[in-house]
Parts: sequence; structure tokens; C-alpha cells
Amino acid sequence: MLHGMQSLDDVALAFQKTCRRFTREHIEPFAHEWEEAELFPRELYGQAAAAGILAAGFPEDCGGTGKSTMLPLLALEAMIWGGSTGVVAGVSSHGIALPPIVNLGTAEQKQRWVAPVLRGEHIAALGITEPGTGSDVAGVRTRAVRDGDTYVINGAKMFITSGCRADFVTVLTRTGDDPHGGLTFFVVERGTPGFSVSRALKKTGWRASDTAELAFQDVRVPVGNRIGDEGSGFIALMQNFQNERLALAFMGHATAEVALHDALAYARERIAFGKPIGKFQAIRHKLAEMATQVQAARAFNYSVALRCEAGDVDVSHVSMAKNFSARVANEVCYEAVQILGGAGYMRESRVERLSRDARLLPIGGGTTEIMNELIARWGLGL
Ligand SMILES: Cc1cc2nc3c(=O)[nH]c(=O)nc-3n(C[C@H](O)[C@H](O)[C@H](O)COP(=O)(O)OP(=O)(O)OC[C@H]3O[C@@H](n4cnc5c(N)ncnc54)[C@H](O)[C@@H]3O)c2cc1C
Repeated sequence: MLHGMQSLDDVALAFQKTCRRFTREHIEPFAHEWEEAELFPRELYGQAAAAGILAAGFPEDCGGTGKSTMLPLLALEAMIWGGSTGVVAGVSSHGIALPPIVNLGTAEQKQRWVAPVLRGEHIAALGITEPGTGSDVAGVRTRAVRDGDTYVINGAKMFITSGCRADFVTVLTRTGDDPHGGLTFFVVERGTPGFSVSRALKKTGWRASDTAELAFQDVRVPVGNRIGDEGSGFIALMQNFQNERLALAFMGHATAEVALHDALAYARERIAFGKPIGKFQAIRHKLAEMATQVQAARAFNYSVALRCEAGDVDVSHVSMAKNFSARVANEVCYEAVQILGGAGYMRESRVERLSRDARLLPIGGGTTEIMNELIARWGLGL
């Protein structure tokens, strides 16, 4: 069942074991309770940091374990077995919030904002999407205007993971009129006057993660909160998207694998008409198709991630990985619920939760339609 793992080195395999142990001890026993409460305790960040999960893949000068594409992906893949994508998304929101600071920030900014998050002391969120724009990033309207040694920020951000309790948000703003060249990142810290959470949003799935709408009203931040030069935001964001999409791809194949695991176990045990339901051709063929989809998605994701690790980032392949995995996760979860019958529709069942969680995968981090645009443009030259 573990195709692709033969490509991992000893460090990665050891890390994978650590992540699995962490999931068994710190996520799995509590996931249902946290999902029902629509939140997980802040202590989990400290526990994930202690296990080396938060620092995995970040450069050493920021307090990380050394640059790696693969290690954070392995952590996500392992944590999905805890049965709540919301927990995974919440505990790993730093994975999208920190890279702009790592890639563009000064040494002082990295020590001030990145290192405490990797130690599990602070929570970071990324603010790109707005009430009026998501896919069309060039439509960002939140504006930062320079005023002496400060910038004044006005606008709003929407659907921000960890937004309610983040200690800071890495916010994409407009500092110039050029659609792409006028975008710049800033760090806005909690407690800054004018910065507030407008709403905690209720969701179909990912319930244990907090998702916020944020407001910025004459928020004044020092020039030192600007990340990189004015206008450097768009390219940094495009780099960030590749990691985020690979992360969602790994979450997708892992989701499908967990759903397959639970459906298979049920098909072996559940008796109908005098035999286990897995003996009916209609069910065993479903399981055979599901297993094929899981293998194909995982093998492709591993191959794309290992190429990215080697410095060969192919935008169209990353987009294909994200789309294919998102589809596999949704199809496999759908069939897993079907195989569990009524039990699969109950809130305490892991496949019920994962089937709701999976619906986000074709939407977040760039929709299926936007991925197909990228594949057509960069992969097919259309
Ligand atoms: C649970 C959750 C967590 C999230 N976390 C974060 C976060 O932490 N930070 C953050 O910044 N954002 C976050 N998002 C936002 C997410 O990235 C956006 O929802 C996503 O990018 C889509 O944007 P949108 O919702 O504005 O949809 P829109 O861009 O309005 O798209 C609506 C529909 O139109 C389609 N469409 C748009 N343009 C085209 C086109 N050119 N061609 C074809 N079809 C098109 C889309 O594919 C989609 O089907 C989160 C969203 C959710 C639901």
C-alpha cells in the first residue's frame, strides 16, 4: 500500500514515524470532540513543535530543521490519519503564512515572526482572499499607503484559516496600481488598533480549524512590517501557491487512503445476506477502483514532490497533482460513505467527516478551474 515510500531517505522515514506517533497520541483520540467543538486547544501547537513537526522543512536561520519540500508534506499525510482535516489545516497554517517572510524577510523579521511560530509559541495566518476576490489575486483591494515611517492599511480579508486566534497575519495588500506589480506583503499583529476579526465563519467541513473574516480600518504599521520591497508580493505569492497546492494534493491522497482503509475494514466485518459485504462483486469492485485511485494519486504526488525537492518545480504538474488528488479524495470518500451505509452518514464516523472535509480540496488554494487554466497555459501551451 505504500508505493512511493521507497524514494524516501532514512531521515524522512524516521520523521514519518514521528508524525504517525504524534497523530496517534495527540490528534486521533480527540479529533471527534474537537470537530464537534469546532476548535482544538492551543496546546497542540506546542506539542507539534516539540515533535519537530512545525519546524520541519524551514531553513535553519529561521529556527527550522533545514530546507525541505518533502518533510512538511509527510507530516500532513500522517496527520490526516487523525481523522480531521480541520485540525491538520489549523496546526499547519504556518505552512502558508511563513514562506513570504522566509523568502523575502530580513534576518530580524525572521527572528521576530518566524522563529516563535516554529517553537509553537505563536500562531500565524495568511491573508490573501477578500470578500470581493479570490481566484483573481490581481483584484486584491486591501490597500497599504505609506505615511512617513508607517503604512496605513484599509480593507478586508475573507476565509482566513487560523484567522480568529492568529498572533499575526501575513497580509497581501495593494501598494501600487499595477495589477500584479502593485502587490506587497505586510505583517499585521493581533492587537494593532483598527485590526479586528469581523466574523468567525461556520463551515461544511474543516470544522476544527478556525476560519475568519478580518477587517483593517486605518491600521497603522511600521515600515519594518513590510515584507520585501514594495511590489514583491505577487511573485512571492506564486511561489507560495506551489507549496500550498502540493500540500493540498498530499492531504487529498491521504484522505482517500484513510477512507479506503475504513471502508475495507467495514466491508470485511459487515454481514448482509449471510456473508461479509466485501464478498459482493458490487462492493469489492468499488474497493478495487478506490485502491487504484489512491495508488495513482499517491504515486503521482510523490513523484511531483520529489522533483520539486530537487529544484524542478513544474507549475502544470503541481496543478495536476492538486486537481487529481482533490477528485480522488472526493470520489473515494463518496464510495466509502456508500459502503458504510447508514453508519457512514453518522457524525462519529471518520469517513463522514472526511467526506465533508474533502469538498474543500477542489476549492482552497486555487480552484479546479484555475488549476486547469494553469495546466492549459504552462503544460499545454494553450
Ligand atoms: C475553509 C477555507 C479555508 C481557506 N483558507 C484561506 C486562507 O488561509 N487564506 C486565504 O487567503 N484564503 C483562504 N481560503 C480562500 C480560498 O483560497 C478561496 O476560496 C479560493 O481561492 C477561491 O476563491 P473564491 O472563494 O473567492 O472563489 P471565486 O474566485 O469567486 O470563484 C468562484 C467560482 O468561479 C470560478 N472561476 C473564477 N475565475 C475563473 C476563471 N478564470 N475561469 C474559470 N472559472 C473561474 C472558480 O473556479 C469558482 O468555481 C480558504 C477558503 C476556505 C473555504
